[in-house]
Amino acid sequence: MDLRNAPVLVVGAGIMGAGIAQVAAQAGHGVQLFDTRTGAAADAKGRLAATLEGLVAKGRLGADAATAALARISPIDALDEAAGAGLVIEAIVEQLEAKRALFRQLEGLVAPGCVLATNTSSISVTAIANGLAQPGRLVGMHFFNPVPLMKLVEVVSGLQTEPAVAEAIFELGRTWGKTPVHAKSTPGFIVNRIARPYYAETLALLLEQAAEPQVLDACLKAAGFRMGPCELMDLIGHDTNFAVTQSVYEANFFDKRYVPSLVQREMVAGGLLGRKSGRGFYRYGEGDGMPAATAAAPGAPARAHEVTVHGPDGIADMLEAAATKALVEQGLRPARDRESTWTGLRVDGARLVLSDGRTAQQLAAAMDTTDVAVFDRPLVLPAPPGAALAFALAPHAGEGWRTQAPAWLAALGFAPLALADTPGLVVARTVAMLVNEAADAVLQGVCTPEGADAAMKLGVNYPAGPFEWLARWSVRGVIGVLDALDAHYRGERYRTSPWLRRRA
Ligand code: NAD
Repeated sequence: MDLRNAPVLVVGAGIMGAGIAQVAAQAGHGVQLFDTRTGAAADAKGRLAATLEGLVAKGRLGADAATAALARISPIDALDEAAGAGLVIEAIVEQLEAKRALFRQLEGLVAPGCVLATNTSSISVTAIANGLAQPGRLVGMHFFNPVPLMKLVEVVSGLQTEPAVAEAIFELGRTWGKTPVHAKSTPGFIVNRIARPYYAETLALLLEQAAEPQVLDACLKAAGFRMGPCELMDLIGHDTNFAVTQSVYEANFFDKRYVPSLVQREMVAGGLLGRKSGRGFYRYGEGDGMPAATAAAPGAPARAHEVTVHGPDGIADMLEAAATKALVEQGLRPARDRESTWTGLRVDGARLVLSDGRTAQQLAAAMDTTDVAVFDRPLVLPAPPGAALAFALAPHAGEGWRTQAPAWLAALGFAPLALADTPGLVVARTVAMLVNEAADAVLQGVCTPEGADAAMKLGVNYPAGPFEWLARWSVRGVIGVLDALDAHYRGERYRTSPWLRRRA
């Protein structure tokens, strides 16, 4: 099955439909565009003309190519004008019954060899196909907004989708310059499912007042994410994000793993929807800037008689290099204990410990000492100077260590941000949960590890894919954080994926 020269019908001339029509026309397809709202398809073509002109003005597209692409797009007034389509891509309202009715109607019009694709972002592809005479030719072709710019296309197979149909859409996506990834029809497909913890863990930390939004955002941006979860939720709109969270939660039979947050519901109820309403976690009025995350001011310079760097890993190597530099002035050199069971710094009697998921309180109890601080996992190595890093102090840490712990993190080159003593702090917790979700997706055959990595990097701009993080960290390390979260909070939310357990 080859769709490269197929005449395309796009149904729904909204944001997504217009973008899909543009991409198909630029790839050389004749494109018919239909919308039930009178004039909508013609208006969309008008907007596309302006978009293509803009591309020509910026030198990104030749004038001839733009004219030719535009000439290939034909708005139509009635669906039966599209009887010759070889591929239909549906981008209408996100309602199961509307989509089913449309495809049933289309089946009566188009030839039996015509492929039917849906751009749904949350409805089961299997359910949309139910009731069709040929359910095998229906497939999900899930684009991301803005369609011409976003490379990812999730090719979603329902229970009855014929493999040859999914393969043809996959190949077509490639010829359109996209990166297609196969997915099985399950709630949220790949991206909208695996991304849930990015928001959910931050919302959980906010709910228990572990830190301010700007602190959580700063920590995750230092880990390489382009936007912090709070800024991102403000941008997406809390109403939209809450709706997606709710739909994934409901579609998973109310699995507590996906439970929406009270923080989110309250903001939606109050109309604090983010940028579009002028206020979300942050304010977007005139003169409102983003509040800065204030690093714990070092009350005193970092001092020690004896420093030992613990741990065998790359993070310990980085700490050793930084500690060596920091100690030059005091005429000291750090010792190294590569056999240690923990990673971090021993500063005289006190300990600065890389999070393994346990809280500072638990670490202090396990180490039988009071002067303990735990710090978050630096995800970018070597950490750029002044990178934000969360830390928490054990409850009975002495006054001296309360100022020395952040002073040492600052001396090691970080901007230390104080957090309540929570398991896995911000980055370790969030990344462990992203990896866990991706592992379950692979366990359930939703996608391959490579597919998950590509989808998260291209669909939501993650700096790395979950399985790439896993390769740089360790299965045991991730399980350690998940088990610590599970022990701390109890319940279903932090259960470890069997896919990870098998690899431990
Ligand atoms: P939109 O509201 O901008 O456009 C939908 C268009 O479909 C409207 O012009 C409407 O008049 C038309 N329409 C409604 N019912 C119709 C019918 N029965 N027949 C023909 N036209 C009909 O919506 P959108 O944001 O473009 O989303 C469209 C689809 O794409 C939805 O399924 C949505 O879930 C999915 N999607 C959206 C995004 C996004 O970021 N907006 C991303 C991926 C997927």
